Amino acid sequence: MIDIASVQRQAMGCVRCRLAQGRTQVVWSAGNLDSELLFIGEAPGFHEDKQGVAFVGAAGQLLDTLLAEIGLDRTTAAIVNVIKCRPPGNRDPLPDEIDACRPWLEAQLEHMRPKVIVTLGNFATRFILEEQVGITRARGRKYSRRGATVIPTFHPAAALRGGRFGGLSPVDAIRQDLRLVKEVLDTFVPAPRVPVDAQPVEAGASQLGLF
Ligand code: URA
Repeated sequence: MIDIASVQRQAMGCVRCRLAQGRTQVVWSAGNLDSELLFIGEAPGFHEDKQGVAFVGAAGQLLDTLLAEIGLDRTTAAIVNVIKCRPPGNRDPLPDEIDACRPWLEAQLEHMRPKVIVTLGNFATRFILEEQVGITRARGRKYSRRGATVIPTFHPAAALRGGRFGGLSPVDAIRQDLRLVKEVLDTFVPAPRVPVDAQPVEAGASQLGLF
């Protein structure tokens, strides 16, 4: 099993790419990395860089509102980014920055082994699907990758910019995709907890004598 706390400590001092020079701090995650649901965004913005927590700005607030609509919050989901440092002026991450940052997201995926991964926008969707697909085409359906159900959706920051996609506003498209997330999560019924002394002794197992 991966020691995620130790990986995080290494990540906090990362100098694997140029973004280390301009950042206030590495933004590791938000929410619960021991949950079954993982949201992946793009990169920290101004507020995330200052506070050290993913999705705390306007896009994060919209995400929280939409999560609450399906009965979820940051205790029941983890939120991370493809790259962990803010690019200058919030520009798009460059391919070599995504490559340099890859081990940190891979470690988070390995630690969580989430049942459901929601990719927010183009960068996360391409990272997880390993296809050069655009989010407008990719969203609205489920994919299987890394042992998880993957549900791509618009980035909440794009939703804040407005527009319409196939008759839907991007916020309504995210709502629709999150209902799919909820449906998938609801199919995973937690295994009943059986008290140890009520568990049957394995066939063929010999019990040790007490004396
Ligand atoms: N946008 C992202 O992709 N990630 C954040 O953490 C904040 C805004």
